[in-house]
Amino acid sequence: MDPISAVLERVLEEVRPLDAGEVANYIPQLATADPDQLALAVVGPRGRVRSVGDDRVQFTIQSISKPFVLALALEERGLDAVLDHVGAEPSGEPFNAISLEDITGRPVNPMVNAGAIATTSLIEGTDVDDRTGRIVATLSAFAGRSLWIDESVYASESATGDRNRALAHLLRSHGIFEGPVDDTVESYFRQCSVLVSVRDLAVMSATLAFGGVNPVTGARVVSETSARHVLSVMSSCGMYDFSGEWLLRVGVPAKSGVSGGLLAVAPSQFGVAAFSPRLDEHGNSVRASAVVRTLSESFGMHLLDTH
Ligand code: GLN
Repeated sequence: MDPISAVLERVLEEVRPLDAGEVANYIPQLATADPDQLALAVVGPRGRVRSVGDDRVQFTIQSISKPFVLALALEERGLDAVLDHVGAEPSGEPFNAISLEDITGRPVNPMVNAGAIATTSLIEGTDVDDRTGRIVATLSAFAGRSLWIDESVYASESATGDRNRALAHLLRSHGIFEGPVDDTVESYFRQCSVLVSVRDLAVMSATLAFGGVNPVTGARVVSETSARHVLSVMSSCGMYDFSGEWLLRVGVPAKSGVSGGLLAVAPSQFGVAAFSPRLDEHGNSVRASAVVRTLSESFGMHLLDTH
């Protein structure tokens, strides 16, 4: 085993005993996940992927799709147009909160569900398939391979997604988007149901870390400016109502999802991803958070470190 993988293995064994938290069950299909799964991957500037643990297991990307759809919206519309529809303030509230700004009706940020649905509505597309196709193509370009949707998770989300539909209706009542509610929400459910492994997420993270260029394929996926905008929003809003404490304690832009994935970015250094299905009260993976925190402490990844 190479020295870097040995370090990753050590970190994984350090957090393995943590067994707090619960697997998400509000989307019935997610409740079937094996709670003991644990994986970690990193990708450096030359695109070398190193991974340990359950690194080939695929799971749905869920909310980790949000920063990448934001990147696509920024590319298609530009920052000002995006900010007309969704804010950039940490909400201090759970991911599914019904929190819209008083006067404008804008969702507070693109990392909570309301804001992510508004972001998805900005993506061009004549219908659900067209819009979803553009989104999946972008996620695939970030990952450096063709990604697919898990149809059973999608069906499960769509069958139980009334709260997200309600959010979308509220947004539409405020004129945040004009298209049909159903189409937009189905695209959102489909983007959340894209299958990834921890290795895919680490490549996606590295693409943000290296200014929008995928270090594995060498392809530019988004502009350096869009990548920076996304990392800024992840820094302040990526961990829901734990975002402030995460920045304080761990100090890296990150994004979590309810199936247990966590992506963290060390700008210009490497992309990191971890996976373990049990979640804490904020909806962030307990062990994936511990993995990233341990890495950040061991390798001085905190953005505001002065040495
Ligand atoms: N699809 C999930 C939802 O909309 C995503 C939430 C998440 O990962 N936090 O509820």
